[in-house]
Amino acid sequence: MNRNQVLPQVHLSAEAIALKKVDFCAPQSYQGAGFLAMTDMPRLAQEASSVNLGDGFDWQMETYFEDSPGSEPRQILNLVLKGRLHLVCQCCLQDCAVNLDEKRRFVLVASEAEADAYPLEDEEQEPLVASQHFNLLETIEDEVLLSLPLIPKHPEGFCEPHATVFGLENEDGVLDEPENPFNILKNMKKNS
Ligand SMILES: [Zn+2]
Repeated sequence: MNRNQVLPQVHLSAEAIALKKVDFCAPQSYQGAGFLAMTDMPRLAQEASSVNLGDGFDWQMETYFEDSPGSEPRQILNLVLKGRLHLVCQCCLQDCAVNLDEKRRFVLVASEAEADAYPLEDEEQEPLVASQHFNLLETIEDEVLLSLPLIPKHPEGFCEPHATVFGLENEDGVLDEPENPFNILKNMKKNS
């Protein structure tokens, strides 16, 4: 019999605090979704150049048991992360929005030893050690950190052309705030 049909399905609360202790050893499967603000992920917030309205990550998760020939069914965790944060563009040194859209699949194992023995060449899924108080929030933050571009950059053509660390100077010699790339694009179109 398919184990998933007999197991209770638990709905995870969308609250960040509820993600800090998830019992992955209980005979039940989970599903849930929510939004994590930058303040919920302090290590990520430290990487951000600024925090703008709407920055943060939508998350979606589900677990289920998958039959595994010759052994106990394996517990699978699927994670979808979608969102945005701001990093320093390595080209013009201004803030740039970095959008991420990531999908991860994990297999929950019983011990560190089992995780260490897990074949590295399995690119479909990675092992995570299950526990009765698994910190899923930390896992989500880890995955976002691992997905950040090594060299964040604006898309080509969207960098501040004359920006310096001191800001932009207009015709009157007054310092302006760096302009929104979309306005720059609009002006470029107007002048051409
Ligand atoms: Zn740039």
